[in-house]
Amino acid sequence: MTSGSNFRDLPASDTIKTPAGDVEMFFIGHGSLMFRVNDFCIHIDPVRSSGSYENLPEADLILVTHEHYDHLDPELIATLKKEDTIMFSNGTAASEINWAQAMAAGDVRSAGGIVIEAVPAYNIVNMRSPGLPFHPKGVGIGFILTIGDKRFYVAGDTENTPEMKALKDIHVAFLPMNLPYTMSPEMVADAALAFRPEILYPYHYGETDTGKLAELLRNSGIEIRIRDLK
Ligand code: ZN
Ligand code: ZN
Repeated sequence: MTSGSNFRDLPASDTIKTPAGDVEMFFIGHGSLMFRVNDFCIHIDPVRSSGSYENLPEADLILVTHEHYDHLDPELIATLKKEDTIMFSNGTAASEINWAQAMAAGDVRSAGGIVIEAVPAYNIVNMRSPGLPFHPKGVGIGFILTIGDKRFYVAGDTENTPEMKALKDIHVAFLPMNLPYTMSPEMVADAALAFRPEILYPYHYGETDTGKLAELLRNSGIEIRIRDLK
């Protein structure tokens, strides 16, 4: 039995073993995740409207993919910040959080023994209005975290881009699945079949039918895990 509310009230999580320690991945909701490895706590796109942060630890590292309200929550970030918290984000989010360090696709940083790569995140076909994508190329980013011998890809808001489909050695992938902003189940399946993560979590999926994705990837050898990440 665990004692106290801190354990009982944490969001659901899965654990991935690595030589650098167990990586606990907490599913807060929508695009918001928390990873914890040993005692190092990483908040990814922390947003209070996506789930409860009441019992969650402060951040050693904060990663923000882009400035949309369901990914960037400056008030919550202020409460998660400790004196030595490091934050990496895309440039537009960094312009709103004055202590954040901007990353662009292709940049590589490290923190807490974790290597953090920024990769592109953008729309190709889904447009806010003709010629204006919801996520224009060159603005938002996704992150690949290398922890021990495992690579974790948190895609941010993106479609199945050529850069995504060319990724290598991804063990765990979080891919967004909601139209019109990101991908349909068919687009997620197309990407997954190209870069073949061992484990795929659709996230940021709203009311999208996750069963459709499971059907498309049946017998693919990719393990699909559906968690509460509407
Ligand atoms: Zn967005
Ligand atoms: Zn979003």
